[in-house]
Amino acid sequence: MAKWIACVVPFCPGGFTVETTDSSTEAICRDHWRLVDKALKAARTRQRREAEEDVDEAGPSHAAVDHHYWGRMRRQAIERAAGIG
Ligand SMILES: [Zn+2]
Repeated sequence: MAKWIACVVPFCPGGFTVETTDSSTEAICRDHWRLVDKALKAARTRQRREAEEDVDEAGPSHAAVDHHYWGRMRRQAIERAAGIG
């Protein structure tokens, strides 16, 4: 089974179809993904990798890292799409 996750940008028709087992509830479509800072996306990827490597050590979990960056990327996509970023 699959489910539809709409882009976080208001009125955007974009989004993704994912498996129902996917816990994601929000998405940024390809067009709006391009509005997010490259540096921010790169930092997220790096932090994610570190969180995966350090699963036994203290530090932010993969989910916490994702949550932190997602909030920032989400805001950027919405603000820039509205032309206020
Ligand atoms: Zn979008």
